[in-house]
Amino acid sequence: MKKPCGGDSQVDAGNANIPALRKRIDAIDDQILELINRRLLSAREIGRIKQRTGAAVVDSRREGEIFQRLLSLNKGPLTTGGLFRILGGAIAAGRGVQNQSGPEEAPPVYAIFGDPVGHSLSPVMYNSALTQTGLDGNYIAFRVKDIDAAVGGIRGLGIRGVSITIPHKVSVMEYLDEVDALAEKIGAVNTIVNRQGVLHGYNSDCPGAVKALLEKTTIKGRRVAIVGAGGGARAIGFGIKREKGRITIINRTRPRGEKLAEDLDCDFIPLAEAGKPGFDIVVNATPAGMFPHDEDTPVKPDLLEAGTVVMDMVYNPLKTRFLKDAEKNGCITIDGVSMLVHQGAVQFELWTSMKAPVEIMRRAVLDELSSR
Ligand code: NAP
Repeated sequence: MKKPCGGDSQVDAGNANIPALRKRIDAIDDQILELINRRLLSAREIGRIKQRTGAAVVDSRREGEIFQRLLSLNKGPLTTGGLFRILGGAIAAGRGVQNQSGPEEAPPVYAIFGDPVGHSLSPVMYNSALTQTGLDGNYIAFRVKDIDAAVGGIRGLGIRGVSITIPHKVSVMEYLDEVDALAEKIGAVNTIVNRQGVLHGYNSDCPGAVKALLEKTTIKGRRVAIVGAGGGARAIGFGIKREKGRITIINRTRPRGEKLAEDLDCDFIPLAEAGKPGFDIVVNATPAGMFPHDEDTPVKPDLLEAGTVVMDMVYNPLKTRFLKDAEKNGCITIDGVSMLVHQGAVQFELWTSMKAPVEIMRRAVLDELSSR
């Protein structure tokens, strides 16, 4: 077989550059190490002053300011999440040299359980939030096949809070000590809070989706079409019902759609018959249009009239075909990252009782998505 012209020599020339580039990286690493140690010496000095004056070692406001300043200076290619990881490590080391006696407890652990979970945006979103608010802790992704055993792990390891994702949102419920009434109605838990060994289940998709909508529209009295009848549709459906929106469920399969419409006491239209406009808000709660099926869309563009608020739960790609159609028709659009971030903020606040830094979380997620 013929080799492509110049192919191998180009590869060889490219490879020849690697030692030189590595040498450059080693030299930069030497400088980073030197600078971090200089930073730690200053931090230790501050720690001594704090000890003399009795001031607290951890100053979350100052840590937040450090991040804000560097975020505004960062021109990339370092992502927001990457900046938080690196600086979070430096700040943790700084706290270590300030607190000579050392931490009494291991930092809290938060986690996501799901399968698949390798591409989850949650670690970057929550670790950025933890660092920005000056809280100790790490958020880790676990690929979980056996949810019963994994819930035992929360108890055994003292994991402080857990996000639950596909396929465990329903099955996890039977292993918890308490399930919040709204999550019970929705029939799915995506948030676990460990309060002194007692595991409480919540559904943050519901308030998260409502908050994402409320950024762009009111809900009371609005005619809302929800396309889909799975977990996401149930979560937003109960939220919109609570806000007194007038819901219609549109679903591909009749029995599932009719069941949700019955639970919400609202109308149902089979997807094949949906096409007439007349809604103030249209929500895609199906995976149609999700990578790698970017060209799919759940509904015909005719349903999307100018002025309609159109929200997609899919966030990869950020601008789905559904949202592109909506923009073309003059609709107001809300992407899936809005819901992701708002439901994340609800989880963060349940776990930490601190106000979530929503804008930082959004930026970390958007950066991560655009760097993939
Ligand atoms: P689910 O429980 O599996 O339900 C999927 C629903 O979509 C079902 O009603 C299904 O209809 C319908 N559906 C699936 N493929 C379709 C297609 N090609 N055309 C039309 N309808 C289709 O899933 P889910 O948990 O509700 O999640 C739905 C989407 O929302 C996913 O993409 C998920 O990633 C996303 N989501 C995002 C967030 C966020 O924070 N942004 C939160 C939750 C979920 P049948 O009943 O006919 O099967």
